[in-house]
Amino acid sequence: MSNHLFDAIRSAASGDTPFIRINGGRIWTYGDALDLSGRIAGAIDTLGIRPGDRVAVQVEKSAEALILYLACLRCGAVYLPLNTAYTLAELDYFIGDAEPRLVVVSSAARESVERIAGSHGAIVETLDADGTGSLLDLARDEPADFVDASRSAEDLAAILYTSGTTGRSKGAMLTHGNLLSNAVTLRGCWRVTAGDRLIHALPLFHTHGLFVATNVTLIAGASMFLLPKFDPDEVLSLMPQATLLMGVPTFYVRLLQSPRLGRQAVANMRLFISGSAPLLAETHIEFRKRTGHAILERYGMTETNMNTSNPYDGERIAGTVGFPLPGVTVRVTDPATGAVLPPDETGMIEIKGPNVFKGYWRMPEKTAAEFTADGFFISGDLGKIDRQGYVRIVGRSKDLVISGGYNIYPKEVEGEIDQLEGVAESAVIGVPHPDFGEGVTAIVVRKPDAMLDEMAILGALQDRLARYKQPKRIIFTENLPRNTMGKVQKNVLRQKYADLYA
Ligand code: ATP
Ligand code: MG
Repeated sequence: MSNHLFDAIRSAASGDTPFIRINGGRIWTYGDALDLSGRIAGAIDTLGIRPGDRVAVQVEKSAEALILYLACLRCGAVYLPLNTAYTLAELDYFIGDAEPRLVVVSSAARESVERIAGSHGAIVETLDADGTGSLLDLARDEPADFVDASRSAEDLAAILYTSGTTGRSKGAMLTHGNLLSNAVTLRGCWRVTAGDRLIHALPLFHTHGLFVATNVTLIAGASMFLLPKFDPDEVLSLMPQATLLMGVPTFYVRLLQSPRLGRQAVANMRLFISGSAPLLAETHIEFRKRTGHAILERYGMTETNMNTSNPYDGERIAGTVGFPLPGVTVRVTDPATGAVLPPDETGMIEIKGPNVFKGYWRMPEKTAAEFTADGFFISGDLGKIDRQGYVRIVGRSKDLVISGGYNIYPKEVEGEIDQLEGVAESAVIGVPHPDFGEGVTAIVVRKPDAMLDEMAILGALQDRLARYKQPKRIIFTENLPRNTMGKVQKNVLRQKYADLYA
């Protein structure tokens, strides 16, 4: 019997080598993780969960939580992690949608979740931040030498809900083949070896922290410092013992705010990787100035794992997400006709490869609508590919503003505003306008003490942008609304300013 993903993980693991390092605490070797994942897999099996059944998990980040993911792979259950920020009402939606047989939550949440889970026919076990809980109690009585369930490349390994940046989260069905192929490809592209030590400060319920960070570490037999959350000081303190950091752009913005960040602090580091949201060119350039490291930006999504990456050896260009990964085809098409566009023209990014998911969970129509006749996934991201092959993300098709019949790409306008003296960052949205259909509107965060006003920005944009691209209004705010992955929630802004031109 073979288990497509876990067999590969098992063969990369060597017993006594460290896998998870808890800062100031325990070191889990690969042998330890194999042992505990076998016991938990046994406990899940004893509870009556069969291959293909979903196991929903909403728990704090811990070594045991990560090992629970491995246990699910081993017993063939479909791992379904949920954002720890989700409320009970949201949990009710996800449990109703995914119909897990088992739900794992903290012991504090057990009672209330049991009420929800019960009505959907699921049982509840617990796992707390300190690694204790009823699931672990059950695991203790199980043998460590669990016989892994047989799983092929086509079988589901996980259902991951998208971040919900553009609307309700959708469950993306990811196979053993999707995850293994991407992990192997990224290991090669980023030259990850058993000698690497990753600083893992991302959540475990999102593709970035779970698959990119964890699967790549596993498949390289490397180790990771598992931090409960991102804390710039803690990360800086670990850098002398680490080689690799994977982060969302906010990590880098916050590291730059620390006076401790400099060449000395990063002397042992090999590679800094960024993704999940656009990294401002300014951040890339500042970071390079301070540390000598060019942050490697890559692009992916829940549905496809990673699609493109800046090169390890070649030039890492700020504002681009690099080249398509080996084995992955990326093309740009005309959203109206579907025709493939030549270099430098902006259109819909479409993706094909072994990384692309099987479809949205129980949404066959939506799945069919998001694939082209020749099997490309329509990403919903707009972008272009230059003559050298570097991909640039221009924004999301849902964020495209159509004003007076013209298409306006928010990112172009944001880019101009962000360059102005006194601007920290901006978000450009379209809101209903009686004459234009949508009115281009800029939400701007000023730098501390900046004296900038609406007229000054509008004036400065006069000569920089065609008239139809210029915002009708500039609105100042303290912070842009962001979700856990550091993504700007434009739907929240559109709602907030819906009546601006009414
Ligand atoms: P939803 O699909 O529910 O609206 P989401 O698309 O934000 O949410 P994710 O799958 O977590 O959910 O995020 C994938 C998206 O993140 C991509 O489609 C892209 O828009 C954005 N993204 C990821 N990496 C980058 C990057 N390096 N630069 C710009 N955007 C990126
Ligand atoms: Mg998406």
